[in-house]
Amino acid sequence: MDNCIFCRIVSGDIPSSKVYEDDEVLAFLDISQATKGHTLVIPKQHVRNVLEMDEDAASTVFSRVPKIARALKKATGASGMNIIANNEEIAGQTVFHAHIHLVPRYGDKDGLAISYTEHEPDFEALAKLAETIKKEISA
Ligand code: AMP
Ligand code: ZN
Repeated sequence: MDNCIFCRIVSGDIPSSKVYEDDEVLAFLDISQATKGHTLVIPKQHVRNVLEMDEDAASTVFSRVPKIARALKKATGASGMNIIANNEEIAGQTVFHAHIHLVPRYGDKDGLAISYTEHEPDFEALAKLAETIKKEISA
């Protein structure tokens, strides 16, 4: 796609700091470095996000993640890593070519904060919701 910034990185029209490349997958440093070493792993073939992937596309890109993530952890000396995919604008997606963020973590004050609000569990509601999702998966 001509107007997709990540397709243009894949084709070499736009420069990037590549850390990994094979026939189907590319990984490069995120230009805004949430923490040192923040890397994006993308499929070379354009797809909007994870929600739009079929199983093959998902296997292709996700299968490369552990190897790249382990190398990134070693190279940066990070203590751990958040691995995140934002899907659609409401979830923070700003580039609409699927990508997985690998964000190395260095400690409490490394600049990244991810927080979830905790709720008291309602087990009846959880069971109902699980049933609804299960039905949708097998539909
Ligand atoms: P998201 O908000 O999940 O869609 O993430 C998009 C990411 O792409 C952001 O973290 C941007 O910093 C990053 N980004 C945008 N343009 C470039 C670029 N030319 N090279 C590297 N990373 C980029
Ligand atoms: Zn694209």
